[in-house]
Amino acid sequence: MSRRAGIIGHPVAHSLSPVFQAAAFAHCGLDVQYEFWDTEQEALAGRLVSLRDGATLGANVTIPYKEAVIPYLDELGGQSARVGAVNTIVNRSGRLFGFNTDGPGFVAALRNEAAFDPAGKSILLLGAGGAARGIAFALAEARVDNLGIWNRTSDRASRLAMDVNAAHVQASVHTARSSDPGGYDCVVNCTSVGMEGGGNAGEVPSDLSLARQGALAVDIVYKPEETAFLQTARAHGVRTLGGLPMLIYQGALAFELWTGVPAPVDVMFEAARARLRDGGR
Ligand code: NAP
Repeated sequence: MSRRAGIIGHPVAHSLSPVFQAAAFAHCGLDVQYEFWDTEQEALAGRLVSLRDGATLGANVTIPYKEAVIPYLDELGGQSARVGAVNTIVNRSGRLFGFNTDGPGFVAALRNEAAFDPAGKSILLLGAGGAARGIAFALAEARVDNLGIWNRTSDRASRLAMDVNAAHVQASVHTARSSDPGGYDCVVNCTSVGMEGGGNAGEVPSDLSLARQGALAVDIVYKPEETAFLQTARAHGVRTLGGLPMLIYQGALAFELWTGVPAPVDVMFEAARARLRDGGR
């Protein structure tokens, strides 16, 4: 029987997930169609009901529904309840399980693509939105030593720091207008600053000239692949990692949850990069 999976969001036409998930299913010889499920708010409940169908493996969830899907699910797995957001839904015999693979995908990208193990390290997160929350809890699970959190809206940073402290990781809030990465092994841009179409392509939400020797700077923005944050970091001699690896590894973890088959990560990277080279998203 042919099966299906897809991405739920609005809009989704720009998403890279269909490109690399389709490549992964084809490579593994799995008869699965990966579809664009652009869903208006009023249609969300119906879309979630349709996932219980026996032919549906599950879905990815993107903006603006990562929080909104939670009431429609039967169970939450991994850290998704703590994070308060789901980016992967798995249909197991008509029951819907929610997961958040963004944070674990980020940690896998750090380890596999930057040879950086967060255990015992100090890391500065710029941003306190959904992606930052997922990353913070995954870093806590990976035994990070301490987290700094800076956000334009400091209340949101304080809330995240409080939640992370409850997960037994020391977290502190930076309240200055611009964040100082000086005391950290790694600084991560989890804001949407620099994202294509965001209108702030040249901005960098941290003074990277203060980054410590040997530090790593990560931008989770993946479109464009090359951001002002990454360029500035390199100009100051700081090692960098872009956002594509996190995107691929969060997708690889979703693929494995749906299929139980190891994800062909190289094939997924290749498909995504080919699409980015073509100017697609
Ligand atoms: P979100 O929940 O809407 O959070 C947006 C964050 O960006 C907030 O911290 C917000 O601060 C901050 N921000 C927005 N505009 C800003 C500005 N002009 N100056 C300073 N801070 C600003 O979004 P999200 O889901 O966390 O996504 C954030 C980014 O991560 C997006 O670019 C998204 O594409 C990317 N992302 C990448 C991956 C990947 O796999 N690579 C996965 C998920 C997300 P306030 O709280 O002050 O508004």
